[in-house]
Amino acid sequence: METLQIKDKKFAVSIPEAEILEQVRRVAGEINRDFAGREPVFLAVLNGSFVFAADLLREVKLPSQISFIKLASYEGTASSGAVKELVGLNTDIAGRDVIIVEDIIDSGLTMEYLTGLLAQRHPHSVSVCTLLLKPGNLKVNLDIRYKCFSIPNDFIVGYGLDYDGYGRNTRDIYTVVD
Ligand code: 5GP
Ligand code: MG
Repeated sequence: METLQIKDKKFAVSIPEAEILEQVRRVAGEINRDFAGREPVFLAVLNGSFVFAADLLREVKLPSQISFIKLASYEGTASSGAVKELVGLNTDIAGRDVIIVEDIIDSGLTMEYLTGLLAQRHPHSVSVCTLLLKPGNLKVNLDIRYKCFSIPNDFIVGYGLDYDGYGRNTRDIYTVVD
């Protein structure tokens, strides 16, 4: 079994490229069906979703737009800790069908925060499309309309996802091995 070493961690392939692309096509097909006659705007959450977004969007056959956003974390002055801010949303989403493209949903706190921010801008609808979901860690009630894979709680890299900035440039998805 081919392994990948990144710094102190060793990883092994857990989802091969062919399986990823099969699920990406399935989800794109669902979006094509659900949004027929509409012109959705995709919002890909950087950095991790850049590979998924590239593959997904090329399977979408609708007239559509894509924009890239980022959530910047700051050390807040409040005791609650990190405060997040939406960076780079330069598309007017008022009245639009927004599809958020995310790499992975873990606790779900990031996605809950993001959907809350977007709702303030009066979109017609907001749908969540994630490559990966760790249902075992989910702490909030999220409506996840599109999902390629549910995975165990182990740490993964590849296909856009990183460990300390490395490992984004693999075609397969890897899971840490101990
Ligand atoms: P949440 O707010 O859902 O807990 O956090 C989601 C974020 O945590 C993802 O966007 C990603 O940056 C990070 N994350 C969670 N699990 C993993 C994982 O297994 N691998 C990597 N590379 N990032 C993860
Ligand atoms: Mg992410």
